[in-house]
Amino acid sequence: QAGVVFDNVVFGYDPERTILHGLSFEVPAGSRVAIVGPSGAGKSTIGRLLFRFYDPLSGRILIDGQDIRTVTQTSLRAALGIVPQDSVLFNDTIGYNIAYGREGATMAEVEAATRGAAIADFIGRLPQGLDTEVGERGLKLSGGEKQRVAIARTLVKNPPILLFDEATSALDTRTEQDILGTLRAVAANRTTISIAHRLSTIADSDSILVLEQGRLVEQGSHAELLRRD
Ligand code: ADP
Ligand code: ADP
Repeated sequence: QAGVVFDNVVFGYDPERTILHGLSFEVPAGSRVAIVGPSGAGKSTIGRLLFRFYDPLSGRILIDGQDIRTVTQTSLRAALGIVPQDSVLFNDTIGYNIAYGREGATMAEVEAATRGAAIADFIGRLPQGLDTEVGERGLKLSGGEKQRVAIARTLVKNPPILLFDEATSALDTRTEQDILGTLRAVAANRTTISIAHRLSTIADSDSILVLEQGRLVEQGSHAELLRRD
């Protein structure tokens, strides 16, 4: 468990155009915060700054109270588990795809980890077994099945911070709600940042931040924001 703080973060990819205008927000350890906003608002940029693909022009980003510029790349990557919108699976079995979340894990270790209640819930909903070959030469999984494998891969790593970047946005509503339902149980009491352009994608957050053109324009619970709509 680790908290995340953005403290007055200013950022632009090029000097003429500021993307984040002094962004401040806090994700307390163990809480689930969602960031919603239209395309181009700067949502994915937040993830790229967390991973230090870029550094802020000014302001600070803290993980567990530490400025991420003072943290090694290895511990930063260990602290963060990301599930992007279109996860890439390896041409291997479902089990090994999940194992790759924990480098060096043996199949037996992965099987043990996937028996853990939460992850078993995820995998249990897959019609295929862990030994099913997927990818080019194997079975082609549906978008929802693929995201289930990708999420399990991230969960097996057991990172203190989970980052979902439009992880279910490309799925049909039913599949999305199904996965969100499983996540509800799995991600409870885990530091989670969910990025999405739709409110429906992040139904279960402690707090929702609305980002527009690099500024926070609203903040509240799901119910509060729907009421204001
Ligand atoms: P969102 O995730 O909310 O759709 P992004 O964070 O991806 O928004 O992008 C915010 C803004 O930054 C957009 O106007 C986008 O065009 C711009 N942008 C994103 N990536 C780059 C980049 N690598 N170079 C220059 N501009 C970028
Ligand atoms: P690890 O390499 O420690 O297993 P992850 O599984 O959490 O790290 O990350 C998977 C991949 O996603 C990494 O290669 C990482 O560079 C990449 N990545 C990190 N941040 C983002 C982001 N904001 N958007 C897309 N991909 C990202």
